[in-house]
Amino acid sequence: MIELVNHLEIYKILPKTNCRECRLPTCLAFAVAAMKHDKKLSDCPYLAKDVLESHRVRGAKAESSDDDYLAAMKVLQQKAAGLDLGQRAEIVGGQYADGRLTMRVLGKNFYVEDSGFVASQCHTNYWLAVPILNYVLSSAGREPVGEWLPLRDLKHGGEDWWRLFGQRCEKPLKKLVDEYTGLMELIIDIFDGRPAPDQFNSDLAVIIHPLPKLPLLICYWQSEEGMESSLNLFFDRSAEQNLIIDSIYTLCTGLVIMFEKIARTHGK
Ligand code: SF4
Repeated sequence: MIELVNHLEIYKILPKTNCRECRLPTCLAFAVAAMKHDKKLSDCPYLAKDVLESHRVRGAKAESSDDDYLAAMKVLQQKAAGLDLGQRAEIVGGQYADGRLTMRVLGKNFYVEDSGFVASQCHTNYWLAVPILNYVLSSAGREPVGEWLPLRDLKHGGEDWWRLFGQRCEKPLKKLVDEYTGLMELIIDIFDGRPAPDQFNSDLAVIIHPLPKLPLLICYWQSEEGMESSLNLFFDRSAEQNLIIDSIYTLCTGLVIMFEKIARTHGK
């Protein structure tokens, strides 16, 4: 971990485009704010994940710490514990029996117990548990309409989130598939995905269901004739009615972490 001890060191790792996405007028102003801990490095959507993971501002609390997630989980669990899960089951596309709501998540059973505790057939990471609880708490239960949109086109927040989403979800996933094209097949095998040929003229496309009423389309275009490869994630038009956008972001970040582990395990 590299410790950044003054604002000039922070400035050096910034893109220096003064794009204002961080709501400050310049990258230098951002560096000064980050040094004072008024901004986090992750507030610049153009800092890549590996840069964020390898740099820290002196005195700053580690970002994305377990404590933050545990605190978020605790609040959500308390809210879920006050719900009538039997009544929510039909809305969210699950079944309720024996004091717990069962839902299919990525082809596996996940359980939300009356206490608000989330359990699963496989290892659950916080990144999935938080969106699962948000989904159970607030999904409107809209059925997917079959119209795929990039995150940017989701009405309530897509514009605010798409750059960060591109940096932290689509870009690392593209890199993974570049290095290990078999990953798309593994996603189909492990997560009960289904191939989706002819979607947006992509070379590889897979649909998975991270939540019962929240399908996700992953499209990958191979590099050709000097053009770089690319990868985009698409959401059903109904997505935001079933999950708030910051949880959609968290969910996809969690998926990328899972896919990274799978690629490592299967010898990327
Ligand atoms: S978002 Fe990043 S690149 Fe854009 S002005 Fe802020 S610090 Fe600079």
